[in-house]
Amino acid sequence: MSAPFRLADPARARALAEAIRLLAPPEPVKIVHVCGTHEVAIAHNGLRRLLPETVTILEGPGCPVCVTPASDIDAAVAIAKSGAVVCSFGDMMRVPGGRISLEQARSEGCDIRTVLSAKDAVKEARETKKEVVFFAVGFETTAPMTAAIVLDDPPDNLSVLASHKLIPPAMAALLELPDHGIAGYLAPGHVSTIIGTGPYRRWLDRYDIPVVIGGFEPLDILYALALILRQIADSAPKVENAYPRAVDAPGNPAALKLIEEVFEVRDAAWRGIGTIPSSGLELRAAFAGIDARRRFNLPEAGPDPEIPGCRCPDVLTARAVPSDCPLFAKRCTPLTPVGPCMVGAEGACSIWFRYGERINP
Ligand code: SF4
Repeated sequence: MSAPFRLADPARARALAEAIRLLAPPEPVKIVHVCGTHEVAIAHNGLRRLLPETVTILEGPGCPVCVTPASDIDAAVAIAKSGAVVCSFGDMMRVPGGRISLEQARSEGCDIRTVLSAKDAVKEARETKKEVVFFAVGFETTAPMTAAIVLDDPPDNLSVLASHKLIPPAMAALLELPDHGIAGYLAPGHVSTIIGTGPYRRWLDRYDIPVVIGGFEPLDILYALALILRQIADSAPKVENAYPRAVDAPGNPAALKLIEEVFEVRDAAWRGIGTIPSSGLELRAAFAGIDARRRFNLPEAGPDPEIPGCRCPDVLTARAVPSDCPLFAKRCTPLTPVGPCMVGAEGACSIWFRYGERINP
């Protein structure tokens, strides 16, 4: 019987680091990932220290909480102020809205509850007679769970404020920025377990850029980076799956069916980036009865407020790293967050602060 593949193998890590060193071009190369879990793995395991000076890796719009527009938070606050219960994930609570955060609204007396899953919001609704709204944020990984509660005969007093977003259109949108400088994408393993490989081809083929799906162990990431650099060296960009133990080409058909049945794709506002075509999920007309946007009289969506000095827009578009921000680790810390990237556990600033991360230290 052959030995199982070891996820923590120093010899293999050294070999991959050497392969990366040999494959790295002499000129600077910027690789971007779009996943907070990747950033945690990179920072926690000190992987940037293994990269040659010419290779940098940055987190782009990989934190769903950070990219949720202030107008959606304002909508949730308005719903809570109308007397309804608002349920959302803990990370959302401290993200600044146009005026206040959900946490501040709670301190003003609003009934805002933290839940761990969409199902918890259903439970809250079944245990009260009040209107309950699930503020549904997240990427392709969480959208199926929201879809599942919509289809599972939800209680009449439950509605959904949908703010789900799709990752491949955001990856394409970054490549439309004139100064993006992105040489390759490390694509997110979690999202890819749901969507498979097809959407990357659909959205990114026209840009001739390496896209490698990677897992979350240090060896997974180093291996994916080596494949990206090999594609660059060979001038042969393509979509490659370096996480086959979790990701199949078709993704998860059952989860995709749930999303398809409940949501339709629409243009969506991403905080710090702007409106990205076909990047959001809106409840289909058949589910208008459970759509909080229709059930409540919501304020007009306004633009995201500019936060003086905060470089979240540059961090979310992978044009800056957290330490480029003059407020980083000074006025802005996880205890005193100034921008959304310091609030969410998957936000680059919060991760860099927690692990003392630096660029190619
Ligand atoms: S350190 Fe704070 S202020 Fe600076 S970009 Fe990050 S979240 Fe914004």
